[in-house]
Amino acid sequence: MRRLSPSAFIRVAALLVIASCVSCGDDPPKESANADSGTPEVEGPLPGDDVIADGGVQEGGTVNPPGEVDAGPISANGCPVLTFPSGIHLQTVPDATLSQSYASISDTTNYPKPLCFIDTAALQDPVAKKTYDTSVQLSPHFQLVELVSTELSYSKRVLLNPTLIAKLEAFRAALGGESVSISSGYRSPAHQRAVCQSICNKDVCPGICAARSRHSWGDAADIGVVPTNRYGDAGCAAKFNFVYQEGNHLHLDLNPEHPICTKQIL
Ligand SMILES: [Zn+2]
Repeated sequence: MRRLSPSAFIRVAALLVIASCVSCGDDPPKESANADSGTPEVEGPLPGDDVIADGGVQEGGTVNPPGEVDAGPISANGCPVLTFPSGIHLQTVPDATLSQSYASISDTTNYPKPLCFIDTAALQDPVAKKTYDTSVQLSPHFQLVELVSTELSYSKRVLLNPTLIAKLEAFRAALGGESVSISSGYRSPAHQRAVCQSICNKDVCPGICAARSRHSWGDAADIGVVPTNRYGDAGCAAKFNFVYQEGNHLHLDLNPEHPICTKQIL
């Protein structure tokens, strides 16, 4: 079985979407009021989950060209095995119900409908032939549970881009080895809607809480620090794409719409 390198993660996801969604007829993605502004959306109060929404969504991204898709590391179940910086591998599994929950917020460019997910209730490493629990180290300083703990009351199946973990390590290194506390990583669409509901009692809060977030694609993390330029600069040094202040915490993501690091610290 071939392994999926972090750099191939998005390309494989794009292939799966292209293969599956040619005729799936998804509606155009909803966008929040400031979705085209590139301006991060504002944070609100979050009981038990201090995160909010991401902004800066627009059509027409150019990442994931089909010609560069590496379709090799696909298992018998049709889903890839992910390789994380620690060297562990995680088998992903199909989940049609969770995939369908992305229908109204996905597109065929930068927000492909995910088909395969990490099953936190059955973490299988098909290369090492091991099983793990959520305390498994994804890299020297980050465990899976840190990226999914706020999600597990919504879904046991999650997305997590290995490149996010590699860049979180780089972020930590750019801070001189300072401990990094993650307040939220993956958020399913249902979780994202709940976040918005907690803010404005609606599934979307225009200008405040977006329908779709990079968190729902497993390539964003919120860091529990008071955002300052020092942290923002560390985010760009770690080659995150979009680094911005969400209220009282720092948001880092791999949004391909920002190929050169965009930093917005108020
Ligand atoms: Zn965030």
